[in-house]
Amino acid sequence: MRSAGLAAFRDSLRAILHVQASRADEIQDWEQVKLLSVQVNRLQRWWRPGLLCIGDAAHAMSPVGGVGVNLAVQDAVAAANLLAEHL
Ligand SMILES: Cc1cc2nc3c(=O)[nH]c(=O)nc-3n(C[C@H](O)[C@H](O)[C@H](O)COP(=O)(O)OP(=O)(O)OC[C@H]3O[C@@H](n4cnc5c(N)ncnc54)[C@H](O)[C@@H]3O)c2cc1C
Repeated sequence: MRSAGLAAFRDSLRAILHVQASRADEIQDWEQVKLLSVQVNRLQRWWRPGLLCIGDAAHAMSPVGGVGVNLAVQDAVAAANLLAEHL
């Protein structure tokens, strides 16, 4: 992408973004462009004695969809409700 140049990058953004096409012009420098490696995965087993993985530690969520925080909080609430009395 870098070797094709910023103008080509802005053109590709205009082609795929559903926001105002002129927003692509705001990118004037490669320093404004960051690579975010996204994972969507989950542990096969979320616990072992003395350890409980919740949220992204148990099931990494993509930013796409915007549900990761919701699921992480739900994990915490469910874990607290199940474990608080026993602990
Ligand atoms: C760019 C981006 C945009 C996103 N947008 C949304 C959105 O709009 N809506 C949405 O719902 N979700 C969104 N998500 C997903 C969401 O951020 C995560 O799913 C959510 O934050 C998971 O919460 P968590 O508490 O499990 O993990 P985290 O929020 O990652 O919290 C883990 C914490 O542990 C700390 N930590 C790590 N290692 C150690 C250590 N060894 N000792 C002590 N502390 C440690 C970290 O610093 C961090 O503060 C987005 C994610 C990304 C990357």
